[in-house]
Amino acid sequence: MFRDYLQIAVATVMCVLLVPLGVVVAAGTLGDVNIKGLQGVSFKDKVQIPATIEVWDAAEKKCSEVDFEAYTACVTASEMPADFHEEAIRAQSIAARTYAMSKIKKYGSGGPEEHPEAPVCNTTHCQVYKPEAELISIHKKGWEEEGWAKVKKACKDTEGQLLYYDGKLVNQPLFFSSSGGQTENSEDVFVSAVPYLVSVSSPYEEETTHRDEETVLSMKEFKKKIRAAFPEKDFGEINPASVKIISRTAGGRTDKMQIGDVTLKGTQVRSALGLSSALFSISFREGSGWNGSSDSQMEIVFTSSGSGHGVGMSQYGADGMAKEGYDYKEILKHYYSGVEIY
Ligand SMILES: [Zn+2]
Repeated sequence: MFRDYLQIAVATVMCVLLVPLGVVVAAGTLGDVNIKGLQGVSFKDKVQIPATIEVWDAAEKKCSEVDFEAYTACVTASEMPADFHEEAIRAQSIAARTYAMSKIKKYGSGGPEEHPEAPVCNTTHCQVYKPEAELISIHKKGWEEEGWAKVKKACKDTEGQLLYYDGKLVNQPLFFSSSGGQTENSEDVFVSAVPYLVSVSSPYEEETTHRDEETVLSMKEFKKKIRAAFPEKDFGEINPASVKIISRTAGGRTDKMQIGDVTLKGTQVRSALGLSSALFSISFREGSGWNGSSDSQMEIVFTSSGSGHGVGMSQYGADGMAKEGYDYKEILKHYYSGVEIY
């Protein structure tokens, strides 16, 4: 008991001494207790980053132990082009680091069902990880000195920094290529709502390669692909009159679509047809074999913008924001609503 009082007394004296000097006070110790962050955020689970991480090689079916920050740099270079703005690369490095850390926290030395041997794998199932030598070998000559050096510096600049929401480590720092102008609410694309994964505008994506992309299918091909993707469903008659978009999500993507007698989610149509994004519109036109009478001679045109699921950080949007003068913290706080970075 006396010792407790003594500790409180010492802590109080420390606070009194330090606060007037403008020194940031950590009101507690690392672990389960609350810690006051730099801006007064109360951390419920401030995490310690380990020195290494176990990575499951999905092709080789084996684990390797990788230095944690080296892993972060390799994922960053695997997931974002090195010619993106350095502030965007910094933002990407924090998303990559936070994702890995959240998996370590969740699985410890184990992993998910798909790879119980390690908390993360090296594919898009988790986040893409290519080792340094492979990265250098797949890029043009000179990339090691320029691109790789730039990515490594961006990761070094943010070393140890993670995303927190409401004092807890963010466990779904999702990202994707480009949004087409607006990101999505998590619940509109995946199963559940996540407070920091809400629809926001993404205005600076001029350089994205996916804009008004046309995918043209004959009605015959369209029907074949849809029926093959959902063999258990009875679509009945599929013709231009029975194919329409019924509703859209907050981010403008196709929410529900009627195809024959069946209603599908926009994300289901996207994956069945291999579209870059669920942000699409549809139109019909006469195909080359049009004979003036048969619907089967018609073509269906999907016009899509953006690439990827649309939830969380748009990478092209991050690059665009960086070029507009926003720094990595502003970029992350824009795409992950309400987060703090420490
Ligand atoms: Zn995985």
